[in-house]
Amino acid sequence: MSRRVLVTGAGGFIGHHLVTFLKAKGYWVRGVDIKMPEYETSQADEFEVRDLRDPDACRAAVKGIHDVYHLAADMGGIGYITSSHAGITLNNTKINVGMIDAARDFGVERFLFASSACIYPQYLQLQPDVTPLKEADAFPADPEEGYGLEKLYMEKMCQYFTEDYGFATRVVRFHNVYGPLGTYDGGREKAPAAICRKVALSQDGGEIEIWGDGLQTRSFMHVDDCVEGIYRIMGSGYDKPLNLGTDELISVDGLVDLVSSIAGKRLSKRHDTSRPQGVRGRNSDNSLLREVLGWEPRILLAEGLVPTYRWISGELEAQSSLQAPIPAVAAE
Ligand code: NAD
Repeated sequence: MSRRVLVTGAGGFIGHHLVTFLKAKGYWVRGVDIKMPEYETSQADEFEVRDLRDPDACRAAVKGIHDVYHLAADMGGIGYITSSHAGITLNNTKINVGMIDAARDFGVERFLFASSACIYPQYLQLQPDVTPLKEADAFPADPEEGYGLEKLYMEKMCQYFTEDYGFATRVVRFHNVYGPLGTYDGGREKAPAAICRKVALSQDGGEIEIWGDGLQTRSFMHVDDCVEGIYRIMGSGYDKPLNLGTDELISVDGLVDLVSSIAGKRLSKRHDTSRPQGVRGRNSDNSLLREVLGWEPRILLAEGLVPTYRWISGELEAQSSLQAPIPAVAAE
């Protein structure tokens, strides 16, 4: 019998890609989410629409499951996560507590939690040429308000469940993930998708709006590397937090230039410093990841952005052709 796995957040960006990856590896997969995937049909053997804030929904989701990949979360880009601290903290606390409790009660063998680089102290991220963040840097804590604080709390809960109950957990700190089939509009999109959308919608020689002064830096990981890393970490037996990201640091202006060159457009930038821009600089230190897995993400940004840009511009073109006015029928 193949192992039965659950992916929560299977209607979302990374969860949907993870379901496809696990199916290709031969697993039996149940996907659960409050919504269906937006852009493609799920390959999950079972896809259940459930609200995981409800503890009974968590219990139903984990029934008969060996491994849980727990990715469901109320989240979005910097504009979204800074706009609603109370709602995000409340929703994610309910989802996470319900899921780990149900998974342990129902005899789940391994439980992987999708954490975030947002747990890292803000005082270490004040410069664009930031020192890459190591796992041990998490404390003394000063995480991103709301979203980051709740992720850090859940990381500790995983640790306590392992120490006190012998429950096998994995904690993965993702650093900005991008790729095709991710949200690119509506307010929850993250920087690479938002920039691809803005570039795709601009005329050559035009201007685009950038949040912040454009000098803030990040590293970005392609979703194919992300799902492979998640899978390797689940199999590793390593039960402490691990970074999963690239250490290829780039400024937001650099990211815009890269997308513009992929699109073959020359664009000028208008910086809006009244918009949220998050920490000044953030990068991943992958020393521990390399030591534990003998592997690290390898897709270069310039490579991974090509299919991402093509997918987003294709989606926008399809939408605009759907919205195009119906031509008047010529009079006979
Ligand atoms: P996403 O928003 O596309 O996916 C999250 C999914 O969770 C969504 O489909 C959403 O509908 C679902 N969800 C929200 N509330 C729910 C509820 N009450 N019940 C059931 N499902 C619910 O985000 P993503 O980018 O795929 O992120 C997946 C995980 O990785 C999240 O835990 C996120 O915090 C973490 N993460 C992502 C990034 C990134 O760059 N994408 C970075 C750091 C951490």
